[in-house]
Amino acid sequence: MCSVVGYVGSTLSRSKIVRGLERLEYRGYDSAGFACLNSTTNQIDHVKAAGGLDKLVSKCSEFPFDGFLGIGHTRWSTHGASTAENAHPHFDCQKTIALVHNGIIENHRELKSELELHDHAFASDTDTEIIAHLLEQISAQEKNIVQVLLLLVNKLEGAYALAALLSAYPDTIIAIRKRSPLCIGKAEDGMYVASDELAFAGHIEEVFFMPDESFALISKNTVDLYDFKGNLLVCNFRKSLLEWSSNTKQGYEHYMLKEIYEQKAILLKTVDLLKKSGDAFFDTLGLSDKQIQDLESVVFIGCGTSYNAGRIAQFFFDSLCSIRCEAVLASEYRSMNYREKERVLYMAISQSGETADTLEVIRLLKKLHFPVTTLTNVASS
Ligand code: GLU
Repeated sequence: MCSVVGYVGSTLSRSKIVRGLERLEYRGYDSAGFACLNSTTNQIDHVKAAGGLDKLVSKCSEFPFDGFLGIGHTRWSTHGASTAENAHPHFDCQKTIALVHNGIIENHRELKSELELHDHAFASDTDTEIIAHLLEQISAQEKNIVQVLLLLVNKLEGAYALAALLSAYPDTIIAIRKRSPLCIGKAEDGMYVASDELAFAGHIEEVFFMPDESFALISKNTVDLYDFKGNLLVCNFRKSLLEWSSNTKQGYEHYMLKEIYEQKAILLKTVDLLKKSGDAFFDTLGLSDKQIQDLESVVFIGCGTSYNAGRIAQFFFDSLCSIRCEAVLASEYRSMNYREKERVLYMAISQSGETADTLEVIRLLKKLHFPVTTLTNVASS
């Protein structure tokens, strides 16, 4: 799971982008990068580094450029090794477009072959770079930016949260969202965009979570939001209440260790909260009392650690509730043939609320109107 961060405003972007990326380090990554529209040359400048953010920061100090429009990324490689070349941002042939991406472009091979026929040359092994070249290709024929973006999203298959800089639009950051999350923050000094509100918590006054399949043209004071059919949408910003504590690792070497040691206190806190909230909690489940009483089995769905948590929950549910339980891997379960099952509760577990395979299973189950509930650590997911 990677992180996308962007800023456009009245102050320079670099320190804001790096700070945002640092706050999203909990999401895990293997390399990082930053690009901005250089405020003196109006060209796109960038720095990329393999490894931790400290590597990016020390490389940045060799190149003191900055700009009022910036994007940054921490990458969790899916296509291509974790090298500086494959780190984001990625560019078009002319280096007039820079973009960062969270997700996977499923049809990247077909698109690459098409683009090669038009003499596009690629500098990385990523699926992401294809998007920059495709944007360049479309922009050569179509000048209206909204039309360009509609044509782009029409060509892309897969999941993507994108933030892009185009030197032809020196006041605008382009944000596009399909499946992978993106939110926009409004602050006194400009607009922010990121995979998670935490990136700019405390600095923004208002936040807006982009709806699935939408894109935004974000400038210092305004956001124009469209759906994938080209309809203009309303951005309903709400007050940002999230706070940031700089002591999030609380002395632990890394997040995983902290989370392991935290378990006991969190369990007690959760039980306490559930006791206090009484029936109000059950109202949020979306299941009637009758549905709960009639349940015959529970299926826990997850990937990685969440799947393992489901395996443990399976024993507790079985012994405490005398109910048949199984834990399944979302990556496998999404390819199953779903049959109408009575009295089954599906419980999807995802720490981030962003696990792609788990989300896919949730979508499938919802389409079939099966009862599905979610256990996640990110309330806004
Ligand atoms: N698929 C892209 C890559 O491998 C993005 C991965 C990510 O979400 O970090 O570069």
